Amino acid sequence: MNAHVHLELPACESLGGQGFLPWLRSWRDAGDPRAKPSAATARANALAVSAFETTAVVDVGNLGVSEAARQEAGLEGCAFREVFGFDEPMAAAPFEDATPHAPYSTHADTIRDVAARGRPWTIHVDEDEAEREFLFSGGGAWLNMLLAAGRDLRGWRPPGLTPVRYLDSLGVLGPNALLVHCTLTRDTDLDLLAERGVTVCICPRSNLHITRRLPDVMGLFDRGVRVVIGTDSLLSAPDLDVRNEVAVLQEAFPAVSGDRWDRCLYDDAWAWLDRSAS
Ligand SMILES: [Zn+2]
Repeated sequence: MNAHVHLELPACESLGGQGFLPWLRSWRDAGDPRAKPSAATARANALAVSAFETTAVVDVGNLGVSEAARQEAGLEGCAFREVFGFDEPMAAAPFEDATPHAPYSTHADTIRDVAARGRPWTIHVDEDEAEREFLFSGGGAWLNMLLAAGRDLRGWRPPGLTPVRYLDSLGVLGPNALLVHCTLTRDTDLDLLAERGVTVCICPRSNLHITRRLPDVMGLFDRGVRVVIGTDSLLSAPDLDVRNEVAVLQEAFPAVSGDRWDRCLYDDAWAWLDRSAS
């Protein structure tokens, strides 16, 4: 299973090694028509994924086109629609398949609403230093980004917490939560992930491209946190073949057996996804 993918996003050059915001700006604000998400791209990518012998995906998108693409390609799994709106809650997150984008881009009430549905949901978390800075102090590049986007932040107070602790303060962490990235999550935050029974999806090639960092995979394994693997999109990974993520992980963590990675791709992934059916 490719447990985190954005099928609708095309392949396009993007800036690496500088962090999330410079990466985002490099393709989104450049106005490059090749970087535009589309239904056609979602269809082509879903077919490519299925040709990589992947049988299931957990997709995250904005256009609402990935579910059809997933089904047409014969892939199992599910497709979520991201909800944003940092300064205003999306009243009971309007779509059935809604899922919050990230702690710095989605209102706390929206995150609570989605988690309260009692079904699997997913969110990008702790990918980048700027996210930490924003939640700790309320400042930094994310503040400027949200203000430039016209967000009204007068009612918002920074929680002074790490991204994982912030989500926990909302009461949303539990077995339905799939936390994507956790690139910078360490120590007692890892303990908390284990305690709450969340699943973590790691996307190593995307992390290496955007931040040049890898999550504390051994720390997750040692604590018994369920770990699954995704490619993220073609804007941060060279292809959508999740087996190539495993190749990178094997090189970075040579002490981990092939069987352990297989468990991430299969058993752990299905253990989370099967909750969708329940
Ligand atoms: Zn993503």
